[in-house]
Amino acid sequence: MRGEELYSVILGNIHEGVYFVDTERKITFWNKGAERITGYLETEVLGKFCYENILKHVNQQGIHLCLQGCPLHQTLIDGQDREALVYLHHKNGHRVSVKVKTIPMCEGDTIVGAVELFNDNSEREELENNLENLKVLAMKDQLTNLANRRYTEIFLNSKMQELDKLGIPFGIVFMDIDRFKVFNDTYGHEIGDAVLKMVSKTIGGSLRSTDLIGRWGGEEFIAIFSGVDEKQLWDLSEKMRMLVENSTLDVEGESLYVSISLGATVVVEPSDLDSVVKRADDLMYESKAKGRNRTSIG
Ligand code: GH3
Ligand code: MG
Ligand code: MG
Repeated sequence: MRGEELYSVILGNIHEGVYFVDTERKITFWNKGAERITGYLETEVLGKFCYENILKHVNQQGIHLCLQGCPLHQTLIDGQDREALVYLHHKNGHRVSVKVKTIPMCEGDTIVGAVELFNDNSEREELENNLENLKVLAMKDQLTNLANRRYTEIFLNSKMQELDKLGIPFGIVFMDIDRFKVFNDTYGHEIGDAVLKMVSKTIGGSLRSTDLIGRWGGEEFIAIFSGVDEKQLWDLSEKMRMLVENSTLDVEGESLYVSISLGATVVVEPSDLDSVVKRADDLMYESKAKGRNRTSIG
């Protein structure tokens, strides 16, 4: 086997996602890891241009990087390595949090292309493993694989005790899918369920292991973030809102999407759980009243 072929076989099979672009940003190589992480097969992307926005990378600010500010493009221009945290679009529509590294490919002094290496952001996997390790299937919501209401309540309780004993505040975010009844009536319950899964994957995908997202009821979710201040909670809430807004469920060529309304509050004084959840719920309703697809904090 020639050296070149050997590299190609190795790169083709490593766990990380790897792809190459030429100077025109045409995708010339796409490995198994990239297929696993994005859901797109080699045959679907080879020969396409990355500015065609197949991968629809967005950063934490919601900027569509494939159209402007793509790290791979910048590397092609200046030959510098780059690292970035981006959210790419999985073929199934949900957003995947990945760490991206871009490296130039050079022949002598000439840049002939660039490589992008990317990996699932491992914190989410860690969190899923933790949930798995608890061996409490009874604590998982069967449809979405998020923590169920019972576990969310237990977790909230433990955060309240941390606040009481150690003075560590926490943020709570109540989320509700907008106009979901109409969505169900239009597309049917089964597709409604698929959207619930897609939204759950998207919002559950970028958590630290000390945080939790649970399914509170039908199309309602609660997120709990440890040790955050109001500014951080606002940013986290807006990130989830933006990621849901940018996620799609692709059904028979049509891209379906929903938005969520959020109510966020930082708990700094010990109080009973019901009143804390109600505060977040009331704020969520404020977001609904103001037109939906927004965050209210207080
Ligand atoms: P709003 O923006 O005010 O929240 O409007 P909405 O239609 O989302 O609110 P409403 O509470 O009237 O309706 C919630 C709908 O969510 C009712 C039901 O059709 C749907 N829903 C709740 N749980 C599930 C579920 O497990 N699967 C599916 N497919 N739909 C669900
Ligand atoms: Mg509701
Ligand atoms: Mg709703």
